[in-house]
Amino acid sequence: MGSGQVTDWQGKHVTVAGLGVSGVPAARALHGLGAEVTVVNDGDDARAREQAAELEALGVTVRLGDGETLPDGTELIVTAPGWRPDKPLFAAADRAGVPVWGDVELAWRLRGPDAAPWLAVTGTNGKTTTVQMLASILEAAGLRTAAVGNIGVSLLDAVLGEEPYDVLAVELSSYQLHWAPSLRAHSAAVLNLAPDHLDWHGSMEAYARDKGRVYEGNRVACVYNADATGKPSTEDLVREADVEEGCRAVGFTLGAPGPSQLGVVEGILVDRAFVENRQRNAQELAEVSDVNPPAPHNIANALAAAALARAYGVPASAVRDGLRAFTPDAHRIAHVADVDGVTWIDDSKATNTHAAEASLAAYDSIVWIAGGLAKGATFDELVGGAAKRLRGAVLIGRDRALIREALARHAPEVPVVDLDRTDTGAMLQAVQEAQRLARPGDTVLLAPACASMDMFANYNKRGDAFAQAVRELGA
Ligand code: ADP
Repeated sequence: MGSGQVTDWQGKHVTVAGLGVSGVPAARALHGLGAEVTVVNDGDDARAREQAAELEALGVTVRLGDGETLPDGTELIVTAPGWRPDKPLFAAADRAGVPVWGDVELAWRLRGPDAAPWLAVTGTNGKTTTVQMLASILEAAGLRTAAVGNIGVSLLDAVLGEEPYDVLAVELSSYQLHWAPSLRAHSAAVLNLAPDHLDWHGSMEAYARDKGRVYEGNRVACVYNADATGKPSTEDLVREADVEEGCRAVGFTLGAPGPSQLGVVEGILVDRAFVENRQRNAQELAEVSDVNPPAPHNIANALAAAALARAYGVPASAVRDGLRAFTPDAHRIAHVADVDGVTWIDDSKATNTHAAEASLAAYDSIVWIAGGLAKGATFDELVGGAAKRLRGAVLIGRDRALIREALARHAPEVPVVDLDRTDTGAMLQAVQEAQRLARPGDTVLLAPACASMDMFANYNKRGDAFAQAVRELGA
């Protein structure tokens, strides 16, 4: 199991760690290639048994209820990306000299010789949006492409499927990158870096290092966020990466771009990286109003997508056409309704403070609906930065006291409604309270800065409940 393609899987003993979205297709694919596959899984619930039965019918061995002991004879582990690196299974693999690959590494190794190159996107927030914008731009250029990876479409399917692609727009999470040591993208972007999933990675440094892996071996461009101020910056990660000779660092900025950057000049997205004589020339790509929605963080996403597309050689007109054709997924700054001069926006996908900060920055006078599971976050910076723009706040969910205390410290004059109910009617009440606080011209923004699982099955359900409640107001 060196670093190249594995061509002969016949009889290889492969352990797949974890049933689920990546494990089941991986087990099927490896079995289909002739490997001796054993799936191990921590849980032993009804769903797991059902999946196990399907795999066993094919001839795959499945061990439920023990995801820790390394099966005898294992030559390779293919792990679900979410499995923590400090699990005993991986310590055992390390002692036995058994390599561990994630789902992305497996897809990378199973690519055919003429496989489509990957344009890769990672970052704390904005990955899905950027990858979809990128796919839309590539499509507008007439290329056969798909948005794949951490976004629901399996990379394995894209790589093994019949349909030939010219180029893939690949979303990668920090977990996937951790387990993908030999991945070499054509070009890649790290959109931003804010503390997230630190319990998994162990530290901010380790998290940044895993994100930075996306730049390893890039051939044409390493795209970084020239406006980011944190340490390490995405530009620091580019500097540390080992790239192919001639690969360039290309920044994106919401300001006027320098040479080798993409940026914004008087409402126009401008490219000063992929043009002849970039000291003097710039190429107009699109207007800010072509970006949907034209919130600042989303313009940054559009610039990153444009940079990757331009690195692949796409003409400027396709950037404009692709951005115009793009519609964001649900619950990402989705416009729900205008009721009596108040605009209602659903950004339920803002599940961490960094995302909420971006959407709070996009509006002038806001009634903010927030709260849920804080996942260890603190809210002082977020609330301090938004204080001037808050008309009021309505707090929901288990960890709402953390936000309430931050509001008391940094925005003591902002009226706060604290809802302690967590039943399904709570969102309706939150919406009614928000309506009471809002004045014409205001935006009511659901940007919870928290995960949803204390009250809802997921952020989709939270956003749906919000939109439903708003519709009831208007009715
Ligand atoms: P991801 O796939 O990284 O979770 P999404 O594109 O689904 O990202 O967006 C998630 C949320 O993050 C959005 O609802 C929005 O609030 C916020 N967001 C999107 N892009 C950015 C960005 N560039 N910077 C900060 N926050 C962002």
